[in-house]
Amino acid sequence: MDSEQIKKLDKENIMPTYGRYDVCITRGKGVYAYDSEGKEYIDVSSGIGVNSLGYCNEGWVKAVTEQAGKIQHISNYYYSEVAGILAEKLTKATGLSKVFFGNSGAEANECAIKAARKYSFDKYGENRNEIITLKNSFHGRTIATLSATGQEVFHNYFFPFVGGFKYAEANDIESLKEMISDKTCGIMVETVQGEGGVNILDSHYLQTLRKICTEKDILMIVDEVQTGVCRTGKLYGYMHSGIKPDIVTSAKGLGGGLPIGVCMVCDKLKDVMGPSTHGTTFGSNPVVCAGANYVMDTVNNEAFMGEVNKKGAYIKEKVSEIKGVNSVRQQGLMIGIEIQGNAGDIAKKCAENGLLIITAKTLLRMLPPLNITYEEIDKAISILTKVMEENI
Ligand SMILES: *Cc1c(COP(=O)(O)O)cnc(C)c1O
Repeated sequence: MDSEQIKKLDKENIMPTYGRYDVCITRGKGVYAYDSEGKEYIDVSSGIGVNSLGYCNEGWVKAVTEQAGKIQHISNYYYSEVAGILAEKLTKATGLSKVFFGNSGAEANECAIKAARKYSFDKYGENRNEIITLKNSFHGRTIATLSATGQEVFHNYFFPFVGGFKYAEANDIESLKEMISDKTCGIMVETVQGEGGVNILDSHYLQTLRKICTEKDILMIVDEVQTGVCRTGKLYGYMHSGIKPDIVTSAKGLGGGLPIGVCMVCDKLKDVMGPSTHGTTFGSNPVVCAGANYVMDTVNNEAFMGEVNKKGAYIKEKVSEIKGVNSVRQQGLMIGIEIQGNAGDIAKKCAENGLLIITAKTLLRMLPPLNITYEEIDKAISILTKVMEENI
């Protein structure tokens, strides 16, 4: 099919929930994506940080296809080898005790919210169920995770929302303290707010938050759906601050392009979610877990993470020099670019010029594949530079 036919099919049959760029991708390799007409795009968005090893990485494809040929799905009533192996990789790497596998970030956060409330219910009874989240956060699109999201624009149309959420100012301990009460059971934060504009929480804030949570037996929940799996240059973003949360969620980059969400809990929560308290049909899918195992084996080592940090710093340095760029916020390969002019318009122009870059609020955002090369980075930056020079 040519691009016009694909667009027509889409417009006639798919709900218009996304404002799409004028781009129809039909195949990809590494950092490059192609449409039916053979137009080449360099993709520094990785499908919103999902394709952590780029498009169709050879080892990943092999792991996934081999697993698909062995067994593609079994229900959670039976034991699964690949799921067990992935779970052990995650618990060993984080020091957390147990995991629950779902299929998306929102679903991982749903499990986190349920686990926090259940822990508190078991120990303190019915009324200790509030969760504090941060302004400008993003936690997902289900009704509960929309309710958890601290942005008014998400609290429309779908009433009634779920009660029991309060929103504090990010990086402001006093604002947090004011909201804590004897009803608080959890505090949920992203270490870098991705959708909210690449806002980095500072280490001291996270460390103080950890201390407060420990003192009051409030669960510290870290939503690492976007920041996880080496995106920020550590396996998980909280690891930059030397703390250990009680609950961590991970999704986007974990499967290398296949849908997975995981909720990981510390020792005191390991048995809180007992039989029939939670479940999901597709959770711990063997093909998906095989992809995630390959990603974990590739990224979770010092050498790989060192490269992620070096490349991130390199991008920050180069992008800062572009005319019309005001500032760059960067941790690892999670990069927010504050510019003069409209980020949405610039992103659109970039797509026309063969660069796939996304936005976060008023910023441009890059989440390139974690194994992008310097040559590819230079190429992406040269397109961005040209577009900025022509349009700002
Ligand atoms: C993307 C995202 C989510 C939602 O993940 P889905 O897979 O779209 O449900 C939740 N939290 C954060 C921090 C995210 O970036």
